[in-house]
Amino acid sequence: MVIVMKPEATEEQLKEVISKIEELGYKPHVIYGATRNVIGAVGDERGKFILQSLEVMDGVEAVIPILKPYKLASKEVKKDKTIIDVKGVSIGGNEVIVIAGPCAVEDEEQIIKTATTVKSYGAHILRGGAYKPRTSPYSFQGLGEEGLKMLKKASEFANMPVVTEVINPEHVDLVCEYVDILQIGTRNSQNFELLKRVGQASKPVILKRGMSMTIKEWLMSAEYILSEGNMNVILCERGIRTFEAATRNTLDLAAVAVLKEETHLPVIVDPSHATGYAKYVGPMSCAAVAAGADGIMIEVHPQPEKAFSDGPQSLNFKSFAEIITKIRQFAQVAGRT
Ligand code: PEP
Ligand code: MN
Repeated sequence: MVIVMKPEATEEQLKEVISKIEELGYKPHVIYGATRNVIGAVGDERGKFILQSLEVMDGVEAVIPILKPYKLASKEVKKDKTIIDVKGVSIGGNEVIVIAGPCAVEDEEQIIKTATTVKSYGAHILRGGAYKPRTSPYSFQGLGEEGLKMLKKASEFANMPVVTEVINPEHVDLVCEYVDILQIGTRNSQNFELLKRVGQASKPVILKRGMSMTIKEWLMSAEYILSEGNMNVILCERGIRTFEAATRNTLDLAAVAVLKEETHLPVIVDPSHATGYAKYVGPMSCAAVAAGADGIMIEVHPQPEKAFSDGPQSLNFKSFAEIITKIRQFAQVAGRT
């Protein structure tokens, strides 16, 4: 249910409504708006009509059921776009945010060199995996905490925030010590215990789309994070499984348009995992901007041919620079920066 407060409702009245919601066994999520505040009350769907009794409380204008199965992610509860600030970088605003870096952190020199180079070309956020969820147990699994240390060093050196994937609920606190954004990968996008755990973390979360996930299922996964209190979720379209074998996955750009209708959360696109080939990353990055994405996430490696993972889809520095120039032009046409 959404409890819509009157524009003139006092802080005291808001507090009283919040305690009443808790008393009834529901979890309140206050969304502060420019003219009025609303409270999303989430919990057991079966008894939710008991919340209707809040309508008579002072300061309450209306109590409205949220019809979508994803409550806090839906625009029913929050009409304004969510803009997430990460160390001065605004995700979800007018600027197209570029996240770039290698698939995996391999050594200090690799990550620092990549960070400073992508930053010099205009990237806002560094990426790099320290824990890699690989299809094969024999593939490189990542450097773990050593990798996290290198990421932190590179992020400080290049003065840019950093995102890394977390694959285990037990690692969440540790990972939060080193990075600015947590990533949930496609293979863990319905690992509900992990989603709940990152929902309790203080860092924003990039939630990748599961490779066989519908948009609705994806939003329900986002709901797991939001309902634990972490409202800073960024959705990342990274391609889905289809019959098409010419690309690693099929980039579903329509999902960006659908999500813009359905949710207030920022949406970014990862053309690297979506296509699997460096040569398709440029065109799909521009297409993502045209589709209205809030940002793009691109794999970049100093020597893609030597990368421990995802080399074929990784850009070298030269092609990254060229692609950034193109993206700038597309952004401008779309009225973005
Ligand atoms: C990655 O970002 O390197 C990654 C493993 O992505 P995905 O979960 O989308 O495959
Ligand atoms: Mn990768």
